[in-house]
Amino acid sequence: MKKTDVDVVVLGTGNAALCAAIAAKEQGASVCMLERAPKSKRGGNSYFTDGAIRCAYGRFQDLRAVLPDLDEEQIQQISMPDYGEEAFMADLLRLTDGQTDQKLANQLVSRSFDTIQWMMKQGVQFTVNENQYYEKDGKRQFWGGLPLKTKNKGVGLVQALFQRAEALGIDIKYDAKTTALKQEDQLKKLIVEIAGEPVEITANAVIFACGGFEANANMRKTHLGNEWEKAVVRGTAFNTGEGLTLALKAGAVRYGQWDGCHAHTTDYHAPKTGDFNKPGDIYKKSSYPLGLIVNVKGERFVDEGADFRNYTYAKYGKETLKQPEQKAFQLFDAQVSPNLRKEYHLPEATCYKADSVEELAEKMDVCPESLANTIRAYNQAVQPGPYNPAIKDGKCTKGVCPPKSNWALTFEKAPFYAFPVTCGITFTFGGIHVSPESEILGDDKRPIAGLFAAGEMVGGLFYHNYPGGSGLMAGAVFGRLAGEQAATFCNRTKPLSSKS
Ligand SMILES: Cc1cc2nc3c(=O)[nH]c(=O)nc-3n(C[C@H](O)[C@H](O)[C@H](O)COP(=O)(O)OP(=O)(O)OC[C@H]3O[C@@H](n4cnc5c(N)ncnc54)[C@H](O)[C@@H]3O)c2cc1C
Repeated sequence: MKKTDVDVVVLGTGNAALCAAIAAKEQGASVCMLERAPKSKRGGNSYFTDGAIRCAYGRFQDLRAVLPDLDEEQIQQISMPDYGEEAFMADLLRLTDGQTDQKLANQLVSRSFDTIQWMMKQGVQFTVNENQYYEKDGKRQFWGGLPLKTKNKGVGLVQALFQRAEALGIDIKYDAKTTALKQEDQLKKLIVEIAGEPVEITANAVIFACGGFEANANMRKTHLGNEWEKAVVRGTAFNTGEGLTLALKAGAVRYGQWDGCHAHTTDYHAPKTGDFNKPGDIYKKSSYPLGLIVNVKGERFVDEGADFRNYTYAKYGKETLKQPEQKAFQLFDAQVSPNLRKEYHLPEATCYKADSVEELAEKMDVCPESLANTIRAYNQAVQPGPYNPAIKDGKCTKGVCPPKSNWALTFEKAPFYAFPVTCGITFTFGGIHVSPESEILGDDKRPIAGLFAAGEMVGGLFYHNYPGGSGLMAGAVFGRLAGEQAATFCNRTKPLSSKS
């Protein structure tokens, strides 16, 4: 069998893995990345993202350091609320019902902006998030603590990081399936099939950054529940939990919410797993706070206006899965349709348009009387008051269940639109236990020498829900730390690269 030595092995090539590999290499370690997928399908879920990335930037003035392309005129048009560490932490605590691991959350929040600046030095470019503002009184009013996005979404992020990794001379092997990991005399021996050929790789340190189990139907069924077997997988088909299994065998322990995941409403006709030829998160449907959501019986089942979409979308995908036929429709009238996000106008979006509620119901294949009753009851419950989609305006319903707590306009102006949606799983919340420095912890809560993890594999950060944009940020923060820590570990234990 072919044998090779390296200081640090990184499993995966998503955002977390690339940040880890670059950070380790910058600290002088030799690095080899092992990617389970072929080269044409590298980059994992990170490749599919919208690129939205949440950080504690403080004031807009400080954020401008990573937005060099903004000119003076654009700056004058922007009205952006402050978003500091307390606000990010408060969002994490609120959305996870206080269950987020405080030490990990502190690390995520306190290292977020500094890591954005580090990513920029690696060549990642940022832009303002065009989905996070509404135009009002000549200003772009940002909301929801998520004004930053990577240029050209996840594709741009991953391209920039690969470019940097390749420029640094990091060795990347594709079609690489790690079948065993043994720990001998402080060293790690990995048995890997690379394009079908067995190879033994000896390393000082291993960084696991190979995603969750969202793309494994059996694991979804076992851990999340039967109904999840049929969920659409929004991202890569390669995050099948193999990395988790390997890490658990090496002494890691499960941590976080193994029966929880992030899901989103996605076009009913979206591909069953992410199509690498159509990245950019084009199938999601995020404008529902402006409208209504009904199931195939024509009944509402969630408070569409409970909060900004950043804070409800990860939960509402799951609610859709509980509905008959795992199907729902997002409804909009002509008052709000001009404010629908870009994804609603793409050729990939399935849309029914009609001049009356009854005609719309027929196109949706829903009982017209039932839909008309739902809309009548909702319209009668709408309270007067000023409407403003840029803030939680408190314009709500009274006496209808579920309520609509904000942005409740009567549904009355033709043409009417219906977008059929289903549940798309994004990533799983359960992972393994790591220290705030990304060291994998054993069942004695002590670091297992030379083993690190980052990204979706880190358990304990997210429970029940998640503040949008925190996945990429967590991957970058813990990936970078894992790389730095792994390189430091190699220096302490005599790096294999120094032997030759
Ligand atoms: C459609 C979509 C949109 C999203 N939008 C956003 C967004 O805008 N903002 C945000 O913060 N988050 C978003 N997310 C979530 C985000 O993608 C994840 O939180 C984050 O990218 C995870 O990064 P990662 O590096 O841990 O995993 P990934 O990017 O998934 O990388 C894991 C890698 O490991 C590889 N792999 C799997 N098993 C093995 C193995 N056994 N050995 C070797 N390699 C293996 C995979 O092929 C993959 O390359 C989105 C997700 C999806 C699917």
